Amino acid sequence: MNSNPKSNNSYKTQWDLSLIYSGLSDTQIETDITYAESVYRAFAKKYSGKTDYLASEEKLAKALKEYVKLIDASVSKPYIFFHFHHDLDSKNSKVEAKLNMIAERAQKIGNLVVFFSVALSKIPLSLQKKYLNSKVLAPYRYFLSCAFNQGKYMLSEAEEKILNLESLPAHTLWVQGGQKMLAGRTVVWKGKTIPLPEALGMLSQLSTKDRRALGNLCRDQFIAISEYAESEMNAVVTQKKIEDELRGFSTPYASTVLSYENETETVERLVSVVTKNFKIAHRFYKAKAKMLGLEKLEYVDRVAGIGATKREYTFETSVEIVRTAFAKVDPIYAKVFESFLENGQIDVYPKEGKRGGAYCWGTPGMPTFVLLNHTNSFSSVTTMAHEMGHALHSTFSFVGQPPLYREYTIATAEVASTLFENFVFEEIFPTLTAKEQIVALHDRINDSIQTIFRQIACFNFELELHQTIRREGMLPKEAMAKLMNKHMSAYLGPLFTLTDDDGYFFVNWSHIRNFFYVYTYAFGELVSSALYEMYTENPESREKIKQFLSAGGSDSPENIFASIGIDVRNPEFFQKGLKKIEKDIARLETLVF
Ligand SMILES: [Zn+2]
Repeated sequence: MNSNPKSNNSYKTQWDLSLIYSGLSDTQIETDITYAESVYRAFAKKYSGKTDYLASEEKLAKALKEYVKLIDASVSKPYIFFHFHHDLDSKNSKVEAKLNMIAERAQKIGNLVVFFSVALSKIPLSLQKKYLNSKVLAPYRYFLSCAFNQGKYMLSEAEEKILNLESLPAHTLWVQGGQKMLAGRTVVWKGKTIPLPEALGMLSQLSTKDRRALGNLCRDQFIAISEYAESEMNAVVTQKKIEDELRGFSTPYASTVLSYENETETVERLVSVVTKNFKIAHRFYKAKAKMLGLEKLEYVDRVAGIGATKREYTFETSVEIVRTAFAKVDPIYAKVFESFLENGQIDVYPKEGKRGGAYCWGTPGMPTFVLLNHTNSFSSVTTMAHEMGHALHSTFSFVGQPPLYREYTIATAEVASTLFENFVFEEIFPTLTAKEQIVALHDRINDSIQTIFRQIACFNFELELHQTIRREGMLPKEAMAKLMNKHMSAYLGPLFTLTDDDGYFFVNWSHIRNFFYVYTYAFGELVSSALYEMYTENPESREKIKQFLSAGGSDSPENIFASIGIDVRNPEFFQKGLKKIEKDIARLETLVF
């Protein structure tokens, strides 16, 4: 029964990609790419090799105004269009070929304007100061401040171009090689041959005996390709060392923090506070061991579920829950969600050839799309809310900001998603039976432990890995595995016994190839908790949520959050943020012990 006047029948469950282009052979695609190429070329022709525009506020403002036009003329729209088709039908090699071609053309036009960032970075310090206070340049102030900050580490135009080009063979191809090997591995489980990624996905739902047995089979596969992973990790980490030294970065994580527009002190404090509080994770695993009926835990047990909620959440039911929860915060969020459903911006169900997982992707100038693989589980509902959180962030930022600031940094992205996930979780929680509440709470804390503590333990692992390779020249795989165990044990705590072989998980951990990216997960979740708490304490603060969602990349994450009353620079901030997870653990303990 659907008491809502709006019938779900009007909702599409498949993407309508004709919202972007009419089809794969739409001639508008080539027109858009050619247009982008011409705009970039014209800009390069006008400004490359010249310096006069750098010396006057008015001339620089004019150049920046033209530079902004490049953003609108980018090839992102055709690129994403083909990517979407590829994600729905990974076996279509024509789509893949087209995708590679567009990527190549995108890199070429990107290289045409490398000179501009280099030129901005060479503006003398005294002029930089003047420009940052200039009225004429005010619309570009934050953009310029980022360019000047990055400029300190910028090399010559020729060197920048070389580094751009060599990143493919020196990093990307190594990493892709590893991914191919992992994707090609299989395990034989109960007489059936299954791909390694699928086996890993099964672990959380198995009994302890089966989970550990299958976990060992997966681990054997990591060990089997660890020779390659040893060369790969040493190569990509050494390449980074070379680049960091050329650019003058003082720590292995400095360039990541800079590119995500965070402040070093914020990230260092986050890492140190979370590391000092690993005991919170230990406390959770004590409750988890009790729920699993185990005295001691093995590495693979961290992913164990404690039973699935039997309740089914069909797509229609999930939509109602998400819509209701969003509307309680502000009816506008429910409206945007409905428009996504009506227009065909959400692809709902798993399909043969469609990629797994879930994401939200868009760029200014076209609708944003959400990919799901809805399986009627509890987590299908929270995933829907999570991805719609990203979608709301994009929707509000794309209309709320001028072109230069529409896209937000990765450091703020997970704040929006986890915030809306929280709203939906709290909507469902009271409707569950006591038994289901235990499962739901366990799963949520388990996720938070991974997002906050495991990711920061990973950051610590990465840091020591980079430092050791920088100091000693290379690190053998046995030592890498040992290092991984050291840092995993630190957050897992005394109930876990790790074997030497467990350390080979580094072979499979894709994030460590995206150096120090992991901190953004912990940062996003802790800021999101603070925002959630602010809202529950005072629902009037809902306007601040909208203000954040509309802020795009108009300022640093620190300043965006400060403007809505969330002071991440406060030394107490992260410590206070951990209170929410402690509260959840206490809630779970009263249900379990
Ligand atoms: Zn996300």
